[in-house]
Amino acid sequence: MKVVFNDQVLDFDAPTSAFDIAKKLKIDSIALACKIDGEAFSLNHTVDRDCTFEVVTFADELGKRVYRSTAGFVLAQAIKNVYPTAEHAVGGTDGDGFFYDFDFRIPIAQTDFEKIETEMKAIIKANLPIEEVVGTRKAAEKFVAKSKMPYKAEHLAALKGDTVTAYKTADFYDTSEYPLLRSTGKLKAVKLMSLTGAYWLGNEKNKMLTRIYGTAFEKKSDLDSYLKGVEDAKSRDHNKIGRDLGLFMTDENIGQGLPLFMPNGARVLQLMQRFVEDEEQKRGYLLTKTPIMSKNNLFITSGHWDHYKDKMFYMGDEDMDDEVLALRPMTCPFQFTIYKNGLKSYRDLPVRYSETATLFRKEASGEMHGLSRIRQFTLSDGHIVCMPEQLEEEFAGAVDLIKYFMHVFGIEDDVTYRFSRWDEKNAKKYVGTKRDWTRAENTMRKILDNLGIEYTEAVGEAAFYGPKLDVQGKNVHGKEETLFTVQIDFALATRFDMIYIDENGEKARPLIIHRSSIGCYERTLAMLIEKFGGAFPLWLAPEQVRVASLTDRTIEQVLEAKKQLLSLGIRAEADVRSEKLGKKIRDAQIAKVPYTLVIGDKEVETGTISVRHRTLGDLGKMTQHEFATMVQYEIASKEIKL
Ligand code: ZN
Repeated sequence: MKVVFNDQVLDFDAPTSAFDIAKKLKIDSIALACKIDGEAFSLNHTVDRDCTFEVVTFADELGKRVYRSTAGFVLAQAIKNVYPTAEHAVGGTDGDGFFYDFDFRIPIAQTDFEKIETEMKAIIKANLPIEEVVGTRKAAEKFVAKSKMPYKAEHLAALKGDTVTAYKTADFYDTSEYPLLRSTGKLKAVKLMSLTGAYWLGNEKNKMLTRIYGTAFEKKSDLDSYLKGVEDAKSRDHNKIGRDLGLFMTDENIGQGLPLFMPNGARVLQLMQRFVEDEEQKRGYLLTKTPIMSKNNLFITSGHWDHYKDKMFYMGDEDMDDEVLALRPMTCPFQFTIYKNGLKSYRDLPVRYSETATLFRKEASGEMHGLSRIRQFTLSDGHIVCMPEQLEEEFAGAVDLIKYFMHVFGIEDDVTYRFSRWDEKNAKKYVGTKRDWTRAENTMRKILDNLGIEYTEAVGEAAFYGPKLDVQGKNVHGKEETLFTVQIDFALATRFDMIYIDENGEKARPLIIHRSSIGCYERTLAMLIEKFGGAFPLWLAPEQVRVASLTDRTIEQVLEAKKQLLSLGIRAEADVRSEKLGKKIRDAQIAKVPYTLVIGDKEVETGTISVRHRTLGDLGKMTQHEFATMVQYEIASKEIKL
């Protein structure tokens, strides 16, 4: 048989293992797995036909997954040895690591990791070969039934195809989404990271299992620098900084994903909202304010009831009650209803509606995090209803507004653009025909190319009613999140029977652009907290100035200075505690207050104040008037002083 590798052709007389092929190519030391005619296999796979051959190394995403899936396999085996009664569910890879779900039947804590890791090390040291076993589905089902593995049986039922590939060492068998390494000894630096509860198959109605997370690297030094990075990211996580700074809190009696904004956090959100709404007004947006809930009739028309119901909160039972009320997951159908109030002519278009909208989404409990994934959130939502010939200009306008906001907030260099498309193979997830989608996607691609936006394409990430341009940011843990979106919709205007009278006096169908400008306020705030480490630019800082007394003799002057600053619209607080000045300055630094003013006897005598900037240090003495003028200028310019 002939094996083609890059431009080399190797000849073999008999079936050969992938490992021996790699050896002949002198790449066996770096090869973790291989691809045969594009399909991934373990190096223990036997090649028995003409094919192309590619090598998979740790430098590839696939290589990392192979490596970490093997670590998960070794973890599962170690658990079997240490906890013989534990039931194995299923494992996988995720981000920088791997995980495995178990039904332990006894309480397990992170303190148990040491003995589990010791057992994993023993399995790695024994360098057990990991064989690839291919069998029929029937044989696999029989085996699983005989071995009494209820979770595996359910998992097997969910796998596609008539044959099943399993991997085995001695008497331990498991399946894996990715091929595994050829022996356990290939693993070098493995570490268990954390443990959490996870519902079996992600369904809240199922039993809660224990999920163990870990990671694995080819080199100990890479693992060490990764662990250092994780510690670093934890200290920069908005979920820590935001709570430490008293921006928000949560309470178990209120529930997960329902943050409470405390005075400082609420202030920052208010400042963002004022700025966004004012800028939208300048750009011709019309403000709406619509209910947070509606009869489900509205969502039946919009398609949400068919395509989105499992992510919605609603009250009442469709079969029992006359009226089912649902909390809204999106603003679209409400603004469409307003559009339909009164006949529109071509002269009225485009209509740009915007609303700071409170929305609700039933996120799974395991998916919620800080402010970035929550159940109630606030979107800078909006819909542009336009004629087809206005689509490109309106789309460009929506993108320009997002770019402007990103520039002011200082995050324009931290994002990438994604063209989110539908998944033709999953057509029932979407409204509209293949023709509608081809048309919408072609139009969108043309617009993006004309705007000169560099983007990646993602199949299956579209909204159910149309393709999206997603502006993607990364959190401190390296996880990508959608911050802002602009979407083209060829479907909902028809579903809502929205029309306008064209120049010939005929009824015509408008197009709709769904857009968010600054996105979800909570998530964007999370990004800003991480970007600035909680030290907001002056215009956004909840407390802009702290006035501190040097001695109890100047308390009155300090309180007066605070009052004057407040009257000028500058957010000031006073620190008149009987503490040493050093402590007062340190506390203001920890609270990330941009300016600290100090008033002592000397300042009172000369009618001045001593000014300190959080990062620039001592700025010397000035009069209160000089200081206020300087600060007002800095606030108005929205300057970012790092
Ligand atoms: Zn919408």
